[in-house]
Amino acid sequence: MDILVINCGSSSLKFQLIDVETEEVIVKGICERIGIENSRFVFQASGRNTVDLDISMKNHADSMKILLTYLTDPQHGVISSLNEIAAVGHRVVHGGERFASSTIIDETVIKAIEECAELAPLHNMANLTGILACQEMMPDTPMVAVFDTAFHQTMPEEAYLYGIPFSYYEKYKIRKYGFHGTSHAYVADRTAKILRKDSKELKLIVCHLGNGASITAVKHGKSVDTSMGLTPLEGLIMGTRSGDIDPSVLEYIGHKEHKNLEELMKVLNQSSGLLGLSGGVSSDFRDIATAYEKGDSNAIRALNAFNYRVAKYIGAYAAAMNGVDAICFTAGIGENSALVRELICNYLTYLGVFLDHDKNEIRGKEQIITSDQSKVKVVVIPTNEELMIARETYQKITEL
Ligand code: AMP
Repeated sequence: MDILVINCGSSSLKFQLIDVETEEVIVKGICERIGIENSRFVFQASGRNTVDLDISMKNHADSMKILLTYLTDPQHGVISSLNEIAAVGHRVVHGGERFASSTIIDETVIKAIEECAELAPLHNMANLTGILACQEMMPDTPMVAVFDTAFHQTMPEEAYLYGIPFSYYEKYKIRKYGFHGTSHAYVADRTAKILRKDSKELKLIVCHLGNGASITAVKHGKSVDTSMGLTPLEGLIMGTRSGDIDPSVLEYIGHKEHKNLEELMKVLNQSSGLLGLSGGVSSDFRDIATAYEKGDSNAIRALNAFNYRVAKYIGAYAAAMNGVDAICFTAGIGENSALVRELICNYLTYLGVFLDHDKNEIRGKEQIITSDQSKVKVVVIPTNEELMIARETYQKITEL
């Protein structure tokens, strides 16, 4: 049974067609620069040459049309009719308190996603555009929304409330929501399998270290705390985002540099993190790591701060769960950087973490990277949000 997975950003549409029975990816690709000049369509069918085209796409509906045409194209296509697609799973970033699990999309759900857009305007509206474009082209195919926030809805009140007047929560639902939930859930599940344990017996700390980065305490299979908050700005130092900061810094910089709140938020979201701390070296971790290896003091400063923040959160979450059995690394940096994993684990000998340095050289493969005597295991798990979305979608449509 084939499930189409759609992940829409404001100017991109990523897709995968997955056979949920074999979990094989039949085709994957991306529509980039939608609504901008030089848009591009990449279509990679398993075992075939990649189609890579400069093709005009004015909006997400245009992209959907091109994608669906290619899926059934006699030369490049992978299915003979769109009827072979059993359902479409859509990634939706913010589900607020409304959605603690994935859901079949209907008019009410569309309205609720729209309402949640107040909390994540750019993301949710882009996701919604993708859903509407897809519904237009495939009106009879069931669609499922899979939310980044849903996995974290199990957080207890003491973890999700901010120390501000409770009335703001009551009136506006200001609280910690957390993101990357699909990734954290997938990695926690894979870790239990690799450790040959029931997830209900495990206390895990999942470090999703990519361009966006977040860390989650997963106790007995459930998220009990996570570093991102009301928005994906809180928590770890990221590519361009600051992560945790004293809110008074905004007022201070605002005064000194005559910036309004919107401009200040732009600084925290777009010119901070590794990019800002390195004095502009790069927001891309690979550039930072290359400069670090050459002894560049700007890159050393940024990388040290990045690692220190992750180690501090690991300590906090080990305390929150009163212990930890395994620490998991995933996403672009977590899966690929032996350097970051080593530097973070150097902080963790008090927990009984001992790396096996040869095993830590692994890139992008599932592996335990600690030595046999390590009290807490450390594992590398390549994340697979698309597969998780396909599984969730399949589960929802079979419940129908
Ligand atoms: P993601 O958001 O998960 O796609 O991760 C993007 C981040 O992962 C960027 O900062 C990349 O520089 C980093 N990254 C990707 N591949 C590698 C690699 N082979 N080694 C180190 N970092 C990498």
